[in-house]
Formats: sequence, C-alpha cells, structure tokens
Amino acid sequence: MAMRKISIFGATGSIGQNTIDLIRRDPEGYDIVALTGGHNIAQLARDARDLGAKIAVTAHEDRLPELKQALLGSGIEAAAGASALVEAASRPADWIMSAIVGAAGLAPGLKALEQGSTLALANKESLVCAGSLLMQTAARHGARILPVDSEHSAVFQALVGERIAEVERIIITASGGAFRDWPLERLKSATLAQASSHPNWDMGQRITVDSASMFNKALEVIETREFFGVLPEQIEVLVHPQSLVHALVGFRDGALMSHLGAPDMRHAIGYALHWPDRKHLPVARLDLAAHGGLEFRAPDPDRYPALRLAYEVMARGGLCGAAFNGAKERALDHFIAGRIGFLDMAAITEHVLDQLETEAGLIDDAITLENVTRVDDLARRAVDRRVVQKA
Ligand code: NDP
Ligand code: MG
Repeated sequence: MAMRKISIFGATGSIGQNTIDLIRRDPEGYDIVALTGGHNIAQLARDARDLGAKIAVTAHEDRLPELKQALLGSGIEAAAGASALVEAASRPADWIMSAIVGAAGLAPGLKALEQGSTLALANKESLVCAGSLLMQTAARHGARILPVDSEHSAVFQALVGERIAEVERIIITASGGAFRDWPLERLKSATLAQASSHPNWDMGQRITVDSASMFNKALEVIETREFFGVLPEQIEVLVHPQSLVHALVGFRDGALMSHLGAPDMRHAIGYALHWPDRKHLPVARLDLAAHGGLEFRAPDPDRYPALRLAYEVMARGGLCGAAFNGAKERALDHFIAGRIGFLDMAAITEHVLDQLETEAGLIDDAITLENVTRVDDLARRAVDRRVVQKA
C-alpha cells in the first residue's frame, strides 16, 4: 500500500504529540509533509528530523532564525508566520491534523479543505467561529472533516449505520473540570495554578482552564451543532466525573447509544487516523468492574455561565460564534496573565457579546474568513478595553 501523506498543524502541542506517538508506531505507513508549531522550536525541529518532514513551520516570524539553525544540514525547509502556515496547508496531503489552539487554526484548516484533504479536526475554535464556512468548503472540494474532540468522535462513532434524521438528542459529557466540587463562592478567587490541573485529562493549558470554566464545553455544544447539523435544543450536557462515557446519542425510539473509552486522546485521534477501519490502539482497556459506579448529573447553571452563553450564541447566529470565541480567548489571556479573576472571564465575554451585537452587525454579515477575522479582532479589542475599565 502507498504511504499516506500526512501533515500535523500544532504538532508541538498535546494533540500534536499524541498524533506523532501513533504515527511513530507505524514508521513505514506515513510520509510526513508538514509539521507546525509555535514557540517550541526544539520539539518542532526534533520531530521534523525524526519523522523526515518536508517542511517545518513556526507561527512566529521572529523564531525563524532559530528554526533554521535547528534544521541546519537536514534538508528540511523552514518557514514562519501565519501566511507560511496557510502555504504549508496548501501542500498536498491525504490527511491533515488540525491541532493549532485557537482561531489561528481556521485559515490553515480552510486551505487544507480546499486541497480536498481529509481534515482531522481537533481545533474546535474554527468550527465555533466559522462552522458553515468550513462545512461548505469541504463540500465544495470533496474534502472530509473527521472529529477529533473526544465527545464528537464518540457521537460520530455512535452514529455509524444510523440516520441523523432519526436522532432526537445528542448528549455530550463534561468532567466538571478542576472546580466541580468547589463551593460556588470560592470560584471567584480560583488561581491559574488551580485551574490548570484537570482531574482526568492531560491536555494543553488553555483547554484545561477552559474545562474548569466550562468554556470548553460551551465551545463543544456549538461544535456539536456545526458538526452534526442538529438544533440547539437537541444538544444536552451531562456532568460525568469519571470521563469514561464521552457522549450519548438518543434516537426517536428512546434508545441511547453511548461510547465509552479511557480518557486518552489517542483513542479519538487513532479513530480519525484509521477511519473507516479500526486498528489496534495503545490505549488502556476499561475495567468497568474495577471502576464501580458511573455518575451523571445536570450541570449547575450558576456555576457555569459559559454554557448559557453557548445557547445564546447559537440563538443569535451569524458571526456571534466568532465574537464569542475571540472574546473568550482574549479573556483567557488576561486570566493567564493575572489581570482578571476566574469568574471575570464569563462576565467580560458576555458584556462584549452584547456590546458587539449592537455595534458590529454580528448577525447580518456573511460568515467569510474576512468577516470572521474582523469580528475576532473587534472582540479581542473590546475585551482589552473592558479589562482596562475594570482595573
Ligand atoms: P496545546 O496548547 O498543547 O498546543 C497548541 C499547538 O498550537 C502547539 O503546537 C502550539 O505551538 C501551537 N500554537 C499556539 N499558538 C499558535 C498560533 N497563534 N498559531 C499557530 N500555532 C499555534 O493545545 P492542545 O493540543 O491541548 O489543543 C489543540 C487543539 O485541540 C485546541 O483547539 C483544543 O481545543 C483541541 N483539543 C484538545 C484536546 C486535548 O486533549 N489536548 C482535546 C480536544 C480538543 P507551541 O506549543 O510550539 O507554542
Ligand atoms: Mg472534548
């Protein structure tokens, strides 16, 4: 069988490294085209050499000399910057992992779809910002988008052989994050260090903090709508502290199909990598008897305002997803920098959404890359102004 051409965007991150772990187990199976990263130049260069990539790209132009130095004598091309990421996505590949964190993943993802490639999508932010644009681009170019987020991979797997028209509801689970057992009044003073430790999953810092605030689940609710084309009222969130059941699909006859697996992203990545086949994966096998009980409960709306915002964003439509994501990303930057508190992230995001809806034509303008970029930028600047006002 011919080797599959593969590119990995966000190769130096948590999803990227898990993808590389799977690829390394079958060195004869893959021909690596592009690997991309950000600040972690040493990791990027090491993996590019080790896997024999054709090109390595860092998102940061000022890091190019360092990348070139690290690749000296390897024959691997080095490039940097946002346009170099898009150019790398235009290089023919059969399968492309989209695992850049944040809205920065959108432009390379779109370019990959324009090549007719299969896009394994971990970068949920691009679906939240521009779901219809991604789906239409895929359809126009005969490309395919496969889910990598564990919940959406679980839904996708539960739907095999089923008809979407017969689906009544989709339930995605949430661990509840770092603070699920904290009293509500303590959340105000939650620190970055406390928010950065996840009870079940080992992930990048930004998504880990987003799990504690449920902004991650809020993005995933919108991601569910975009991926599977169901109505907002058909999507439910269930807190499930063990993170073993990743999603459930309810059909009109009342049947619920669920997907269970160890909390290990190599499961969902491997499914997308080998789809439509299932291959052996190096993930733990569940011993349910050893686990004992599986618990489920409804999320407490007072604890997780981000979830309510997700439904408001879907009800408003248009470019609200882009504004929501941009505001949330920037509020997270400020929380990480220690400028705002944990609960301020949702309060500021909500304020900015309301403000932009009246000022920026969020609902009427078309979802194009240009408009998404404009609204993303507006949202980030509105967050900055709000942070200064509150300081
Ligand atoms: P990480 O922070 O671990 O990795 C992010 C990757 O993106 C790194 O390669 C980083 O480079 C790169 N990067 C950061 N900023 C930019 C930028 N502006 N432009 C281009 N590249 C950039 O994140 P995760 O791997 O945790 O998450 C990646 C995506 O997958 C996110 O969208 C997340 O929501 C999603 N996801 C992650 C899961 C997980 O288990 N981690 C589960 C489900 C979804 P560098 O580190 O070198 O600076
Ligand atoms: Mg998830």
